[in-house]
Amino acid sequence: MSEKKKAGIIGSGIAGLAMAVRLAAKGYEVTVFEASDRVGGKLHEFWDGPYRFDFGPSLFTMPHLVEELFELQKVPLEPNFEYHSLPIICKYFWDDGTQTATFSDLQKTINTLAKDLGESPDKLEEHFSQSKKKYDLVGKTFLEHSLHRWKTWLTGSVANALLHLSQLDVFKTMHQANVKRFANPKTVQLFDRYATYNGSNPYKAPGLLNIIPHFEYGYGAHLPKKGMSQITQSIYQYAVNLGIKFELNSKVTAIDPLHSSKIKGLTLESGASYDFDVVVSNMDAYYTYQELLKDREKAAKLLKQERSSSALIFYWGINQLSAI
Ligand SMILES: Cc1cc2nc3c(=O)[nH]c(=O)nc-3n(C[C@H](O)[C@H](O)[C@H](O)COP(=O)(O)OP(=O)(O)OC[C@H]3O[C@@H](n4cnc5c(N)ncnc54)[C@H](O)[C@@H]3O)c2cc1C
Repeated sequence: MSEKKKAGIIGSGIAGLAMAVRLAAKGYEVTVFEASDRVGGKLHEFWDGPYRFDFGPSLFTMPHLVEELFELQKVPLEPNFEYHSLPIICKYFWDDGTQTATFSDLQKTINTLAKDLGESPDKLEEHFSQSKKKYDLVGKTFLEHSLHRWKTWLTGSVANALLHLSQLDVFKTMHQANVKRFANPKTVQLFDRYATYNGSNPYKAPGLLNIIPHFEYGYGAHLPKKGMSQITQSIYQYAVNLGIKFELNSKVTAIDPLHSSKIKGLTLESGASYDFDVVVSNMDAYYTYQELLKDREKAAKLLKQERSSSALIFYWGINQLSAI
């Protein structure tokens, strides 16, 4: 019987966990090395007294990607992972007293924004349908293929996207596209906000990023029953049940090409080292090149890229009784 191929994953964020499950489904014996004392990366929870906080993400938009991981092994999603759709996605407040809200029900969103912001329902409908159109044209290429591989650029879907270039708004910024469509600056502000979902600036990012609302209104906004951290915790539990090994407090300090170009080694801070057929890094790409591969040239290239904006996060513990 041939021995199982081995995969080593650096980091147990949502991407590392998903990769671990996918490689296990392909028959690999998988070990995940995590520098901290818990799994989940940015997607974890913390407590302050009686208050529980989701550390990072609060908006869960593509649940089918979690479902897909469980389907790989024909494991039922529930009760392993439970979530529900949020009827209200977001509430908006302006300092002049204007308020509005958006909903999973697209028509309700259109009616509400039209009523509260005096916006044309036709323009709103056009905006959402253009967002979907952009997603249909380039969404899968962006999300499911590596943009660093030339093969990605030679597919029929890219050719089709190029034929519809004018609908992708790549030659104007998000803000310019939104100003052109909407009459009320507050509506422009509301839709410009989506740029921040990937740390972009709406005054600089291409209008193509008006694709983002489609994730909320096409796939809906959801919340796991036990909070966002249930996403990583349930995948972690599932991974453990599959026999995937997790080494916590195990900071990787080097990826070493070993005996052949195919066999890689991982060295930990403790000095321990392991051999793998496949190594996947879930840590920041810059540090992977700079620290683990010692590829200063590639690291310097990455460093030259423009930074995304940072954010200031407030964690508020609200007494539910007094809030009602
Ligand atoms: C405040 C905030 C709000 C957000 N809101 C949303 C939202 O609402 N919706 C949404 O979809 N996304 C949101 N995001 C983005 C989302 O959190 C991230 O895209 C996602 O969690 C990143 O996962 P990851 O697996 O790529 O990386 P990470 O979660 O960063 O995981 C990397 C892991 O690698 C480990 N690691 C690093 N170096 C080493 C090493 N040398 N050896 C071993 N392990 C190592 C780290 O400890 C970490 O566990 C938000 C992010 C933040 C910070």
